[in-house]
Amino acid sequence: MISVKGLYKQFDKLEVLKGLDLEIERGKVIVLIGPSGSGKTTFLRCLNVLETPTKGVISIDDETLDFSNPISNKRVASFRRQTGMVFQSYNLFPHMTALENVMEGPVTVKKESKDVVRQRAEALLNKVGLGDKLDYYPFQLSGGQQQRVGIARALAMDPKVMLFDEPTSALDPELVGEVLKVMKDLANEGMTMVVVTHEMRFAKEAADEVLFLDQGVIVERGKPEQIFSNPKEARTKQFLSLIE
Ligand code: ATP
Repeated sequence: MISVKGLYKQFDKLEVLKGLDLEIERGKVIVLIGPSGSGKTTFLRCLNVLETPTKGVISIDDETLDFSNPISNKRVASFRRQTGMVFQSYNLFPHMTALENVMEGPVTVKKESKDVVRQRAEALLNKVGLGDKLDYYPFQLSGGQQQRVGIARALAMDPKVMLFDEPTSALDPELVGEVLKVMKDLANEGMTMVVVTHEMRFAKEAADEVLFLDQGVIVERGKPEQIFSNPKEARTKQFLSLIE
């Protein structure tokens, strides 16, 4: 479903991604782990072209972008619409209620009818446990609640794949669980997900595959049981020994 071939990303002289290759099947949950600065966020942002790769080919189903050639904004926008992104810092519109935040994309980008979208947005907010907070503004919500609105907002665009960039890193520890629960439910429903996280419990419980990234390359990938209990590479072992 998702295919990444020879993906490179350079910022000025710094080469952050050094030729990544990856296939992700529909319905799989992939967790990216690795040291700070290894390129996890950059990789995720390349997947939805928030960063333009320097080189490489990315496909989601039958839409393919080859970054060796110039690509029109229209094709990038169409490609990006297949993905939903959840950010560490929630990125909600502060002047809109939870419901308005969730409705915004489908109404303004997809030009869907407000009545239809409102029903779907309410259902999504119910699904993430916020059915009683539809009219709350972000400042009236806890971090965990804001992040759940962020997840509902991404889902409202009906993406094929959900990308999560350290979705719980900004949260107080007692609020992490409620966000991870929503993510686990999504995984169980068969959503394709790529998740950058430091939550190793989530990786153990929900990932189909864990990728260990270091210095812009995939050092090791495997099932969570294998990566966590029997890593093959010395660099993976060292990283895990530091965080566990
Ligand atoms: P962390 O776990 O700390 O979030 P990460 O693995 O997600 O780290 P990235 O955020 O992808 O790492 O950053 C990889 C490298 O790319 C870092 O050295 C960072 O400083 C650099 N980098 C990221 N974005 C930019 C940018 N827009 N301009 C210049 N350098 C950047």
